[in-house]
Amino acid sequence: MADREGLIWLDGKFVDWKDAKVHVLTHTLHYGMGVFEGVRAYETADGPAIFRLQDHTDRLFRSAHILQMDMPYTKEEVNQAHIDAIKSNNLNHAYIRPMAFYGSEGMGLRADSLNVHLMVAAWEWPAYMGEEAREIGIKVRTSSYTRHHVNISMTKAKANGNYMNSMLALREALASGCEEALLLDPEGFVAEGSGENIFIVRNGVIYTPELTSCLDGITRNTIMQFAEELGYKMVEKRITRDEIYVCDEAFFTGTAAEVLPICELDGRKLGEGRRGPVTTIMQEKYFKTVLGQDPAKSDWLTLCK
Ligand code: PMP
Repeated sequence: MADREGLIWLDGKFVDWKDAKVHVLTHTLHYGMGVFEGVRAYETADGPAIFRLQDHTDRLFRSAHILQMDMPYTKEEVNQAHIDAIKSNNLNHAYIRPMAFYGSEGMGLRADSLNVHLMVAAWEWPAYMGEEAREIGIKVRTSSYTRHHVNISMTKAKANGNYMNSMLALREALASGCEEALLLDPEGFVAEGSGENIFIVRNGVIYTPELTSCLDGITRNTIMQFAEELGYKMVEKRITRDEIYVCDEAFFTGTAAEVLPICELDGRKLGEGRRGPVTTIMQEKYFKTVLGQDPAKSDWLTLCK
């Protein structure tokens, strides 16, 4: 990653990709206290457009507020940095990664001299798990790692340190021949994937876990709005892993993963074991929306002009 060509927005100005470096004593590198986002821009008929940028920036600021990190820029400046990152790298579609982090001004947990820094990088990143997975679905395994307890890590913050748990779970799932992990909350109820929210469908009703211990996903919110528009009954509730075993279909949602069918959980085929009809409808509507083909949703797109 670090040896690419291009430009990265760092603390208010663009620097060469290869020079966008921090010191080894960068505080966030040591203790994981930082916040970030994962944002996507898609190629539309009017040029590249960022999907739900304001919602991502709002969540970035909420995450910073939870961690008591003072954002050194306004939301407008952060939005503009995203747009400029697309433009200055001549990208038609991209994954965008803003991150607010503590610098190397101080070390130790008591450091009170820290400054919050902000970076925004953008690069081309196609389908998270490959094009094929979007159609045939993925195999998932319930993790031996528990998702965060709400009073240990802050589950509403998209915080750097939270992702150690995600990586442990994902690596375990990959090592067992699956593509993704399903994490349960400390009480044993379904929380989310390592970087995705989960939905299941049973008898035409769509279910997703309450927000207690999962991230308030923007794709999750998008799908819930679609469900309402399309007239589906949409229920947020506690879900057990065996409810997933017997569902008709299941899918993950996330900015990186988009809408991804789950064909198997813990060796059990889910429904027909392939992308189900509701998943297909949601996936098609999602891509139509992000690609700017639904005029009713143009408010969700920020053109990078
Ligand atoms: N849960 C976790 C743990 C995530 O990292 C993500 C990705 N940001 C999501 C859910 C999905 O969130 P979003 O739809 O906003 O990308």
